[in-house]
Amino acid sequence: MTTTEARTTTLPTIAFLGAGSMAGAILNGLLSPVVSVTGGIRVTSRTAEKAAGFAETAGVTAFATESRADANREAVRGAKLVVLAVKPYLVPEVLADVAGDLEPDAVVVSVAAGVTVATMEAAVPASVAVIRTMPNTPAQVGRGVTGVSAGSRASEADVALVRELFETVGAVVEVPESQLDALSTISGSGPAYVFLLIEEFVKTAIAKGFSAEQATLLVEQTFLGASELLAATGEDPAELRRRVTSPKGTTEKAVEVLQGASLSTLFDRATDAALARAQELA
Ligand code: NAP
Repeated sequence: MTTTEARTTTLPTIAFLGAGSMAGAILNGLLSPVVSVTGGIRVTSRTAEKAAGFAETAGVTAFATESRADANREAVRGAKLVVLAVKPYLVPEVLADVAGDLEPDAVVVSVAAGVTVATMEAAVPASVAVIRTMPNTPAQVGRGVTGVSAGSRASEADVALVRELFETVGAVVEVPESQLDALSTISGSGPAYVFLLIEEFVKTAIAKGFSAEQATLLVEQTFLGASELLAATGEDPAELRRRVTSPKGTTEKAVEVLQGASLSTLFDRATDAALARAQELA
């Protein structure tokens, strides 16, 4: 049985440029009682409406670029961590806007898919570190996993800080930038694969005569329960599977059919297709 100890995380001033679903998820983690952001949190968005929603949160100062042209520049002044959470195509424009206002020891942390460290390092002063990351949507419930790749100027302390930031919303895996696209095909896209499996499994349960409500409960609780059992015991999933699979029993028959369908080949093909698309978009 594993236990989680409540540990206090202290982070310096953070500016989020972009306040969409990803920034919102990370911000949720920062609002936990065990996290303290000394110097506060700044958030910018394009629309005043979106910024106003964030401005109602204690400890957060929010500005909209449509009401104040200097909103992003103001947000980064005095900020140690600058989280780029706009759509990837906006990253060059936003970085060009704020480059002159970044603190010399700032760390630019990008969550934008496909924008390289080299592109970002070229857009900011030489003293500013860049760290590229790939979070995933379960960060919204504190169960994310984020790939972190340090740029050439990032120190160990910078990486440790970014690790702490993303650990407020889940786990962190450090990888070289060359592996970030592959990581994205596993954990970035991964929640979609799991949701697809759940959708298909619910259809199967309905076909066996259960109501949609019963089928959804049976399937969702099975996924949740199996994941929590795995996490709580720390055992190998193959071993947990063996324990559900009595020799010559019913589960064994089902597992034989699933393995016969070559699930691993299917996952290889799916992730290869995602990787090829990432390379096309680069
Ligand atoms: P989103 O919900 O569309 O949010 C984008 C935010 O950027 C909005 O708050 C938008 O403001 C704001 N914005 C637009 N122009 C701006 C500007 N000039 N200055 C400041 N803010 C500006 O997008 P998202 O899903 O959070 O994605 C954001 C980044 O996270 C992307 O680069 C994406 O690649 C990355 N990411 C997302 C996921 C995911 O699953 N969502 C996973 C990994 C990485 P308004 O809404 O007011 O227009």
